[in-house]
Amino acid sequence: MGLKQELTELAKGQGAALVGVASPDRFEGAPRGHHPRDFVPGVKSVVSVGMKIPELLWDWEDLLKGAEFVPAEARMEVLQGYLYQEMGYNLINEALAQLALRLTTFLELQGHRSFYFSPVTRGGAADRIPFGRGLISHRHAAVRAGLGEFGLNNIVVTPQFGPHVRFVTVLTEAELPADPLLAEKACLGVGCSICVEDCPGAISLRDGFDQRAVWYDTPARTDIPKCREARSVHFCLGRCMRKCPVGRIGSPEDRAATR
Ligand code: SF4
Ligand code: SF4
Repeated sequence: MGLKQELTELAKGQGAALVGVASPDRFEGAPRGHHPRDFVPGVKSVVSVGMKIPELLWDWEDLLKGAEFVPAEARMEVLQGYLYQEMGYNLINEALAQLALRLTTFLELQGHRSFYFSPVTRGGAADRIPFGRGLISHRHAAVRAGLGEFGLNNIVVTPQFGPHVRFVTVLTEAELPADPLLAEKACLGVGCSICVEDCPGAISLRDGFDQRAVWYDTPARTDIPKCREARSVHFCLGRCMRKCPVGRIGSPEDRAATR
């Protein structure tokens, strides 16, 4: 079994839904100091690993209505804090960080120096770099590893699971075969636009992007301060991700019937 296959099986055995590899030359144009080579000068492969957000964690619109222990006025706060923020975000990012550490250790035990980026930004980074930025972009790494394209929501839309995936990145000096970039669109594009229309004003489309191309770079901008404000004022709970119709389990009718 080749190293890439061993790595992929290890990741999938620990809960990864998607694993892809990019060559570092796909990151030209990265912000200064944030290219994979800025962290690992001899980097040969960038590994992107995605974990799926369980569907019912983001399909919660009707939950807790009339629930005995949750006052009606606290319902949205509880849903946002517990379902979305804790189970759909923090815990998945912590699992991704643990998984990336294991993959890094596995690669080093095979003799390849490697480096991972935790998606959990406790400690210095959380306060010292702008919100919504990372030392490396897990989203760009996922797109360059062929796992998806950017959607109009600025999130990675994968063919299998839509945007309902969180990612982590591992850099390694091991030479692993790169996966092809996504060849066909996963985002339904401007004709869909549900994510933009349902967002309370934080997403705006860039000028002049090719509407029919596969989007390897973001076709829109997200106003991060507005997005943060919307989360606490409107309880939007990542509506741009949750409402995307791509990659949902079952048809809308099937889902309605199970409610
Ligand atoms: S999280 Fe909410 S406010 Fe932020 S971009 Fe998505 S829909 Fe808009
Ligand atoms: S909601 Fe529609 S336009 Fe937005 S990311 Fe999903 S498929 Fe693309």
